[in-house]
Amino acid sequence: MLDLALTPDQEQLVAAVRDFCAREFAPRIAADDRAGHHDPEIFAKLASLGLPGVCFPQRYGGYGLDYLSLGLVCEELEYVDTVYRTVLSVHVGLVGMGLYTWATEDQKQRWLVPMASGKKLACYGLTEPNAGSDVASMQSTARRRGDAYILNGQKVWVSDADTADYMLVFAKTDSKAGGRGVSAFMLDREACGNALRTEPIENRLGIRAGDVGSIFMSDLEIPETNRIGDEGDGFKIAMSCLDNGRYTVAAGATGTVRACLDASVKYARERKTFGQEIGRYQLVQQMIARMSRDLEISRLLYFKVAWMKNTGARHTRQVSMAKQYATDAAFNAAHDAIEVHGAYGYSAEYPVERFLRNARAPIIYEGTREVHTILQGEYALGYREDRPVKRSLPPYQPD
Ligand SMILES: Cc1cc2nc3c(=O)[nH]c(=O)nc-3n(C[C@H](O)[C@H](O)[C@H](O)COP(=O)(O)OP(=O)(O)OC[C@H]3O[C@@H](n4cnc5c(N)ncnc54)[C@H](O)[C@@H]3O)c2cc1C
Repeated sequence: MLDLALTPDQEQLVAAVRDFCAREFAPRIAADDRAGHHDPEIFAKLASLGLPGVCFPQRYGGYGLDYLSLGLVCEELEYVDTVYRTVLSVHVGLVGMGLYTWATEDQKQRWLVPMASGKKLACYGLTEPNAGSDVASMQSTARRRGDAYILNGQKVWVSDADTADYMLVFAKTDSKAGGRGVSAFMLDREACGNALRTEPIENRLGIRAGDVGSIFMSDLEIPETNRIGDEGDGFKIAMSCLDNGRYTVAAGATGTVRACLDASVKYARERKTFGQEIGRYQLVQQMIARMSRDLEISRLLYFKVAWMKNTGARHTRQVSMAKQYATDAAFNAAHDAIEVHGAYGYSAEYPVERFLRNARAPIIYEGTREVHTILQGEYALGYREDRPVKRSLPPYQPD
């Protein structure tokens, strides 16, 4: 039987996160965004609710909830601002779930446990100055020396680069083997010394209260035990991490659509022109109807992915569609929300201009709109199919 109802645990989680966001984040986000100020306490605040461990088993320091719970949290966080969802997305979706899938038991104890219990923050360094969509053309190298690797290279546009304790980075162990020459490594900032440097990227269009930066690795020596998976598994690991990250982005973008809808409905019922509420005009209703429809579709798409994750089914195709649909929907909703608000929407007095600026990056990261369009076209035409993988995210099992 198909059942989309939330469990009592999930309802309780949503209520707790919504209440926390309204108290802790909502009152300060407009000022932080305007000042480009990154609140260094964001992760500690998320950790105070247990969110870094939301979908990991208790034996790894987690809360043992299912993958839908993670999506629901992301929707709530981004309802207030994309920055809060981003911190959890990268930490849990891109890195934590990647380790849960690919790391050895020792490595999980070493990195996943402190991450899930909220003691350490992680970031994900895949993109380079000359390699974004074309991941396999990355130039960072990891040269083997005895039982160590020497890493050299630069990562850019890494969310939380400047604040993270741990970094999952990708580098070529064989520069002639294309994607098959990429390997994955965990870095612990404290252990890296001066061979690792990070710096923020300033003056960004949106998510201005966030931390996005570059990672520089210069003759950085790390032990072989920091490699995740086998040599040459890096590309597969990066892509499987993206299946999780994209899920959190889709769920988060659903939160932006809901925020735009709520703000627009409220304003449309307050603002009067020509003697009546603007909500009475069909052209305004058209914009609001589209937001309402897109909220429903975006949510159903991420719920379906959550169900596939919970059951252990491969979902690369479905999560690509969910991510692409929801991020476009969020941008369209924000654009229309400004229209509903007229000139006031163009000012920082209302949150909708911030939603529009925030909604732009999620269309670019974790696969651009064009990359996802190509994927969807190829799946539909039968040129691409999801085959069994070397490792998959463990299905949900109650603790
Ligand atoms: C705010 C923000 C946060 C980010 N966080 C992270 C992070 O935490 N970790 C990380 O590793 N990266 C991160 N990124 C980087 C992001 O993933 C890349 O920007 C993205 O993958 C696109 O790469 P690119 O910018 O190099 O664009 P390019 O790959 O250079 O693409 C430029 C344009 O060409 C198009 N294009 C490229 N190839 C094709 C093709 N084959 N067919 C059609 N069109 C094509 C693209 O769609 C795009 O429109 C972040 C980016 C932003 C903006």
